[in-house]
Parts: sequence; structure tokens; C-alpha cells
Amino acid sequence: MRKLLNKKGFTLVELMIVVVILGILVAVAVPIFGAVTKNARIKSCKSNMRVIKGNMETYAMTGNNGDQIEIITGTDMDITDEPSFLALFDGGALPLCPGGTEAEKAAGTYTATIKVATASTTYEVKCTTAKGAAGDENHNG
Ligand SMILES: [Zn+2]
Repeated sequence: MRKLLNKKGFTLVELMIVVVILGILVAVAVPIFGAVTKNARIKSCKSNMRVIKGNMETYAMTGNNGDQIEIITGTDMDITDEPSFLALFDGGALPLCPGGTEAEKAAGTYTATIKVATASTTYEVKCTTAKGAAGDENHNG
């Protein structure tokens, strides 16, 4: 016991055990962190799409100088670049999607299409960062 108390510093084996334990912790933490940030990007994108959808409905009701826009049954209306639609957003532009592939990050855009059928009007928002390729995030699902 006396000999043990007098020992100074760590042995190589003790240091290696600590390094291995730290390595295991990092190996566990990195994928979890990646999954959390991915979920946050998808949730942020879905939040953007809800805001866009709400503004599409506002545009449909007031886009024609305060009056309801003329809607033609069976005709899809792409309003992504309509100035009076974009004016409904902060900064006068659609929000950007924070997700997508590594190369596309923070550069994702949306398309906004009003689809008018006989008995229903649908407000379709699509995130263009979702390519559906392996490893990419699907924000439209
Ligand atoms: Zn997105």
C-alpha cells in the first residue's frame, strides 16, 4: 500500500484505457449529434413550408389588389415568383431551407403552386433541396 501511494503519474496502460474510453464516447456522440442537427433542419424546413402555405392562402384571398385572385379550375398556378405573393414575407422573399445536401446547405429554395380542382383548392409547397437521392434529406415527405 505504501508503495502504491508513492507512485507518481499514470502508467502507459492507464493512459491508454482513458484514451480508449474517450474514443468510445466520441464514437457514440458524433452520430447522435448528426441526427439531432438533421432533425432540426427538417423541422425548420417544415416550419418554413407552413408559413409559405399560410401566405399562399392570404395571396389567394387578397393577391389581386386586395381582392381574391382569379382562379381557373384545372389550372395549376405557380406563384413562386409573384411579386405580391413575395411581398407577404419578411424581406420580400421566400425563406431559405436550412437543409439539403452538404453542398446545398442554407441554399434550399421552395416552389409554391396553387392547384385548383372542381371542388377543392390545394396549396402545394415543395422544398427543392430534397432530391430523393441516397443520403439526402427528404423534406417533402
Ligand atoms: Zn427543406
